[in-house]
Amino acid sequence: MNPSSHIKHEAAKCVACGLCLPHCPTYGLLHDEAESPRGRLSLMQALAKDDLPLSDKLESHLARCLDCRACERVCPSGVTYGLAFDAARELIESSRPTQPAGRLVMFMHWLVEKPHRVVKLETLLRIYQRTGLQRLFRGSRLFQLLGLAQLEANISVLTSPSSLMEIHPATGKPKGRVAIFTGCLTSITDPQTTVSAIRLLNRLGYEVHAPPEQRCCGALHRHHGLAAKATELMHGNLRAFSGTEEPILCAASGCTATLKEYAKYQTGDESAGRFSTIVTDLNQFLAGIDWPSEIKFNPLNKRIVVHDPCNLTNVLRQEKKPYELLARIPGAEILPLPDNARCCGAAGTYHLTQASIARQLRAPKIEHLKRLAPDILVTSNPGCATYLAAGLREAGLDIEVMHPVVLLEKQMQIPPPGRG
Ligand code: SF4
Ligand code: SF4
Repeated sequence: MNPSSHIKHEAAKCVACGLCLPHCPTYGLLHDEAESPRGRLSLMQALAKDDLPLSDKLESHLARCLDCRACERVCPSGVTYGLAFDAARELIESSRPTQPAGRLVMFMHWLVEKPHRVVKLETLLRIYQRTGLQRLFRGSRLFQLLGLAQLEANISVLTSPSSLMEIHPATGKPKGRVAIFTGCLTSITDPQTTVSAIRLLNRLGYEVHAPPEQRCCGALHRHHGLAAKATELMHGNLRAFSGTEEPILCAASGCTATLKEYAKYQTGDESAGRFSTIVTDLNQFLAGIDWPSEIKFNPLNKRIVVHDPCNLTNVLRQEKKPYELLARIPGAEILPLPDNARCCGAAGTYHLTQASIARQLRAPKIEHLKRLAPDILVTSNPGCATYLAAGLREAGLDIEVMHPVVLLEKQMQIPPPGRG
C-alpha cells in the first residue's frame, strides 16, 4: 500500500468520537483540535486526498505529535495511528527535494546507519570527556553552532562502554539459546543494559547469540518519513538474523516496538513476518520463563520508582512485566511513577526538535520524583532513561537511572565456586 492509501485506510476508520483526546499529551498541553489525534488524522487525510496543500502550518501540527500512540491504545475503532503517522511523514518527505530536519537530527540519522560510526564516536567521546577537551570545547562558538549544548543538556550517558562477543555461553544449568538485538546508540548511552541482560540470561541457563552484522532498527528514520533508509536497515537486520529460530530478545522497548512492526511495513519481504513473531521484549521473556530455584537475590532496602515507556505500554503492551521482575528483589519498595500514561517528552529526537513541549512534559515527572525521592528510577527505554537522567541532573536530584535488568543483575547472588 502506498502512503496515501495507508493514510486514507486508517483515517476512514475514525468515527470522530473524541475518546482519544484526553489521552493525547499535546492536546492536553495546547488545547487545540489540530494538536489532537482526531485533528491530525483529518489533516493527514486531507493531505492524502489532495484536499489540502502541504504547508508549514500543517507540517508543524504533525511535527508536534510525539508518536507516543496513547491515542491508538484507547481508540474503539482500531485506528492504527502510528502507521498512519509514519505514512504521512513519508508522504511529506517524498514530496520535497531537500531535507528540512535540523543538523543535529540529520547527524543522528547518519550516525546510527552504520555500527562502525557509533563505535568511532564512542571512542572519540571517551577521549573528549577524559582529556579535558570537553571543558575547553563547551566555551567555543563551534559548540553552540553545532547545537551540541542542547544535546549535552538532554542526554546523560548512564554507564561506561564495553565490548561484546558473538556467542556468550550459558553459565547456569543449560536451558536453551536466545539471540539478542543490541541496538545502536545504546552502546554509547547505556551499554550496561546489554551486558547485564547477557549475564542474567547466561545465569538462567541461556546461551546468548549477538550477531555482529545487526544494524540500527530504523525507528528514527521511519518516524521521520525516510522510509527507503528505514527499509534498508530492516533488510540488514533480516539478513543478520536470517538463520535464527530462537527468540530474538531486545531490552530497549523503542527498538523492540519497531522490530515487532517490520511485518506491517509491507515491503514484500516474507521473512519480516517470521522475524517480527520471534522478536520479544526482554522483560516479557524473563517474566514468562521458569526461574531455577538456585537463583537468589540480595535484599535491597530502597525505594524504586518505575517509569513506563510509551512504546512498552501502547505498542508492546508489556508494561506490567518490569514490576513482576522487580518483585523478585526482597525488601525493595516498588512504586509506579505517577501519570505514567503520559509521554516523558523524549520520543526519539523529539526532545531535540520540539524542546519546549518536551520539557513541559518532563517537568511534572521530575516534580513527582522530587516528592517521592526514590533511590533508583527504572525504565526500559534508553531514550527515556537518558532524557529523564538529564532532567534529574538539571534539578540537582541524585537518583540513579537504570534498566530493570541492570538492577536485577546487580542484586543477583553470586553462586559459590563450582556451582552454576
Ligand atoms: S478514538 Fe479513534 S475513532 Fe475516536 S476520534 Fe480518536 S482516532 Fe477517531
Ligand atoms: S501519538 Fe501521542 S501525541 Fe500523537 S496524536 Fe496520538 S496521543 Fe497525541
